This record gives sequence, structure tokens and C-alpha cells, in this order.
Amino acid sequence: MTLLTFRFAPSPNGALHLGHAYSALLNQRLARAVGGRLLLRIEDIDTARCTPELEAGIYRDLEWLGVEWERPVRRQSEHFFEYGALLDRLIGEDLAYPAFMSRGEIRAFIADSGKAADWLRDPDGAPLYPGADKALPAGERKRRVAEGTPFSWRLDMQAAMARAGERLFWTEFADEMLTTFREVEARPQDWGDVVIARRDIPTSYHLAVVADDAAQGVSHVVRGMDLYQAAGVQRLLQHLLGLPAPRYFHHRLILGPDGRKLSKSFSDTGLSALRAAGATPGDVRRMVGLE
Ligand code: GLU
Repeated sequence: MTLLTFRFAPSPNGALHLGHAYSALLNQRLARAVGGRLLLRIEDIDTARCTPELEAGIYRDLEWLGVEWERPVRRQSEHFFEYGALLDRLIGEDLAYPAFMSRGEIRAFIADSGKAADWLRDPDGAPLYPGADKALPAGERKRRVAEGTPFSWRLDMQAAMARAGERLFWTEFADEMLTTFREVEARPQDWGDVVIARRDIPTSYHLAVVADDAAQGVSHVVRGMDLYQAAGVQRLLQHLLGLPAPRYFHHRLILGPDGRKLSKSFSDTGLSALRAAGATPGDVRRMVGLE
């Protein structure tokens, strides 16, 4: 039997807080319960915002909490070549196009369209990308790229869904013990033409995550509810790229005293701040409801 494999995948663009502690401890508990593996993955594709100091802080906080993970740790910044190869496949299959509009240009385009009030938004609330670049003649596209106009690569969602040609589902566990599960229909179209490679790098969050979950043999993705809808896009990419689909559990989020999602700048729920204030790892377990 192959070992069940879990992973905790923080981005070192801020310090770990109680929400991360819950996620890491839950992954560890589940992996231990089945004699499985726990991997740590550093999601540092944003090389401008991720720093070695923040990465070192992640290791320090996790060790303090008593989380144990396998070495070596996979750092996404060391795998751009692999992501680039997957990106090239999507481009080669005409499923991706260069998208030239900046955020400001997207806003202006929508404002000028006369349809601003009805413009569809993605599950995170951002307006869907206007498909104008998709219609650019090949020559014009080439000219802009040759001129050095910055662009990201976006998935042509309509073409990608047509290529998939069938309804796609992912498996979602229904409880923290992973005892029951259901099949959820993927709705990647709710995100529109998602970015699959950012302006300066050959990948985006979605592409790197599906590449790594496959490369690392992750069987169970246990992460926050805030990424529930993202699973639909990731399921589509797995299908298009012929990658295996892990099972998912999107866990509850630990909320701040104001009932809002914790943010990386919320210093009083940061693990190092709690530690400095005298909290023990046991206190943290209690605070996140994982005794
Ligand atoms: N790196 C992501 C984050 O810190 C998590 C990605 C994932 O678990 O799929 O929010």
C-alpha cells in the first residue's frame, strides 16, 4: 500500500499565526493517525515578498509547536524550470494567452464598458479578466511581446473547459477526522481566465500547487476553507496536464477576536508574539481547538 502523504504549504511572505498552527497541527495529526508522511513545502514563488528571515521564522515556529516534517523541504523558487515546462504545454495546446492589461487597465476597461455594475467577479471578489487580449491578432500579440510590453499568461478558461470536455469533480472530506467525503463539482469558470504565470515568473500559485502536489505524491490536501473554490481551478489543471488528483479537506478558519480572518500583520495572533508573551505549544493547541 502506498503511504498517505499530507503537506503543509506556507508562503514565507509573513509570519505564521494561529490559523497556520491549526493547519500544520491538523495535518500532522492526520498523517500520524494513518502512519503517513507529512511534508513541508515553502511556497516562495513571490521572490519579492518572501524573505529568508520569514522562512527561518516558519521553521522556528513549527519546531516550537512540535511539528515534525520530512527533509529536504521543497522550495518552489527552486522549481521554476519544472513549472515552465508545464506552462509551455498549456501554451502549446492553445490553452493560454499573453494578457497585457495591468490592474489599472482592467479597472478602466470595465468602467468604460458600460457594464460595470453587472461585471462578473471571482469567488475572491475580483472582477473577471476582460477577454479583450484573447482576440488580439497573432501579429499584434507578437509585436507587443517583442516591444517588451509586460504580460502574464492566462488560461483561456472557455477553451480549457472545452478541452476537458466533461464535468470534473474533486473529493472533499466532510469532517476533521476525514471519515466521510463527497464529490464536489469543480466550477473553474467562476474564476474566469486565471493567471497561470505571473509577469516575472513562469508560474502562478495554481500551477505551482498542482505541479508540486503531483511531484511530491501528495494524496491529501488539508488546508483552509479560504482555498475551497481554488480547488476547482486546480482540478481542471490536473486534468489538462494529466496529473493525479489528491483528495481535499478544507478546514475551518481560525478567526480573530473581531470575527475576521487572521492576517499576516495581525501581530497578537502571530506564533512568535504568543511565544514571547509566555504561551506554550499546549496553549496554542487549546486556542485552535486541537487538544
Ligand atoms: N501557500 C498557500 C498559503 O499559504 C497555501 C497553498 C495550499 O495549501 O494549497 O495560503
